[in-house]
Amino acid sequence: MNELEQEIHTLSEQLAAYQKAYYVDNRPLVSDLEYDRLFDRLVALEAKHPHLKRVDSPTQRVGSDLDSTLGEVEHTIPVLSLDKAYSDGELLAWIEKTEAKIGEDVGIVIEEKIDGISIVLYYEDGLLVRAVTRGNGMVGNDVTANVKTIASIPLRLPTEANLAVRGEIYLPKANFATLNASLEVPFANPRNLAAGTIRRIKSSEVAKVPLQIFVYEGFSKDVVQSDHLQILSTLASYGFRLNPNLGYFAKDGVQARQALEAAGLSGFGGSFSDLASYIQEHTLKRSSLDYEIDGLVAKVNSVSAREMLGYTGHHPRWALAYKFESPQAQTVLQSIDVQVGRTGRVTPVARVTPVQVAGSTISNIT
Ligand code: NAD
Repeated sequence: MNELEQEIHTLSEQLAAYQKAYYVDNRPLVSDLEYDRLFDRLVALEAKHPHLKRVDSPTQRVGSDLDSTLGEVEHTIPVLSLDKAYSDGELLAWIEKTEAKIGEDVGIVIEEKIDGISIVLYYEDGLLVRAVTRGNGMVGNDVTANVKTIASIPLRLPTEANLAVRGEIYLPKANFATLNASLEVPFANPRNLAAGTIRRIKSSEVAKVPLQIFVYEGFSKDVVQSDHLQILSTLASYGFRLNPNLGYFAKDGVQARQALEAAGLSGFGGSFSDLASYIQEHTLKRSSLDYEIDGLVAKVNSVSAREMLGYTGHHPRWALAYKFESPQAQTVLQSIDVQVGRTGRVTPVARVTPVQVAGSTISNIT
């Protein structure tokens, strides 16, 4: 094995072990930032040297939370991860790229990215028949009995539709603090405690934990919906719990506000020039929420545009996660040069020992 092959091998092995600790054991071995740094490095290496990409590479699939002690069920909808960005600039560039791909203006819904457990609720003829974890994206664990203990999840819909609803089960911060204090081995965060709870064998024990849910996607052949705002509005009318912190952005801010109003949804409507301040505001608001979020999710509103954009094996091309914490790295400052532009503008440039950040090698910082 040469050096490059060795690095790809080591990263793949490390990430697979970290995925198991995080998703299956609910006891992460490294910080999310460190995990994301290694993941991005592997993605960058594989993009540059596709012939070295392993068939079982951790970048090829959704990190699996499958637990062999629980029954397994095949998903009938794609249950994937999200591609991510770390700045409003990256988000705006993604919106532009998406518009170029589909050849028309897009409307973008921004939701909070709830840091909980991904769940799919399957309804047949209006009845909740299965609740399934994300698993490996194709097959998940059947946790129906446990999920039925969450009072805000409708067991019967006001219509006899067949429907798959995606949402995030979470434990409110205040409840986490109280519960965790009574545990012999405390959990690192509400997500891990909620994940452990939802996989408990005894539903009576699950019922004692005040789990909550926010739903954010609905898929149905019976209920035709042309856009995401309509889907959310329909889910609310069926009795599902939606996160009220919603934003809708379009080229024209007035039209965005009208679209929200037409769907009967409250939230912020604005133009793309309002996006940066919306993100900043929500980054500050994060600590005052009663639940954990680790970012925001931008989604293309139109269902037909989503169909055109499709999916990779890892994420939908019509959605992007904006993560609050950008990747960081430590290095050594070697010198500072001063560049003088044509207009006389002076820019100091730090020369640092090359360091990997989100898959790129950084050696100069302006
Ligand atoms: P992700 O960060 O890629 O996000 C995708 C998930 O976000 C979806 O599956 C969904 O469950 C959830 N979500 C929450 N709110 C949503 C909304 N409004 N709309 C759509 N989806 C929403 O999640 P992932 O693929 O589970 O994991 C990747 C992340 O998990 C990494 O970036 C890393 O931070 C963390 N991780 C950490 C470790 C570790 O060892 N520390 C290991 C594995 C993964």
